[in-house]
Amino acid sequence: MQAVEKQKLANFLDLTRNYLGSGYKGPQKDYNFKEDSPVFKTGSADTIDKIAEEIRACRNCRLRGTRTNAAPGEGAMSPLVMVIGEGPGMDEDKQGRPFVGRAGQLLDKMLASIGLSRNTNTFIANVVKCRPPGNRDPDSEETSSCAHFLERQILLLKPKFILAAGRVAAQTLLKTSEPIGKLRGIFTELKVKEIIFPFLVTYHPAALLRNEDLKRPAWEDLKLLRSRLEAANEITNLSEPVNSGGG
Ligand code: URA
Repeated sequence: MQAVEKQKLANFLDLTRNYLGSGYKGPQKDYNFKEDSPVFKTGSADTIDKIAEEIRACRNCRLRGTRTNAAPGEGAMSPLVMVIGEGPGMDEDKQGRPFVGRAGQLLDKMLASIGLSRNTNTFIANVVKCRPPGNRDPDSEETSSCAHFLERQILLLKPKFILAAGRVAAQTLLKTSEPIGKLRGIFTELKVKEIIFPFLVTYHPAALLRNEDLKRPAWEDLKLLRSRLEAANEITNLSEPVNSGGG
């Protein structure tokens, strides 16, 4: 049962008790219910919209107190690629959508250069769905309390490839502290439950905006992804990329 549903039921029972006792007093408490276990929720009734609704109602970590809007994720169902970033920034927190600020605009251009778009064949999400204040890295309590949402999104969407954008996403998903320079640029695998997804790490678009030198290796990563999409016959007839800087 979702936390929102539990709260509604508790409110109803409170109202009934008050009515039978001393008259109407209105809902009594915010019980701060937890979601049921992720295992229970990966049943066939799970949907991307249901997960998004739970994310918006989630109060399971301290980011609930500072977020304006959660950004559950958006894009194509059954995507070729699922991009996973770190967490919402200021613009994403305002709009409740992932990667809509400057870094997001660059990400959209990078994806477009290899035939990918959140409007057609790509889903975009983050390891945490609520903005860490001041854009600090999410801490381990926040990433682990949010992990079941991402896991459910991956298992439902079943992307052909997963692209981790940036150090935090890569280290969190691979459960490692290796530097991003060692993790990026090679295809590995990400195992989610028993399902294995081809997995590539690249630099975060925000890092490319800060450091021009990272554009070239990021472009190499994108070309590698494109060649894997072509080899899997997922993308064909792409013209030669024009933007060799990746941005
Ligand atoms: N950076 C991220 O990692 N994710 C977003 O959604 C926006 C900026």
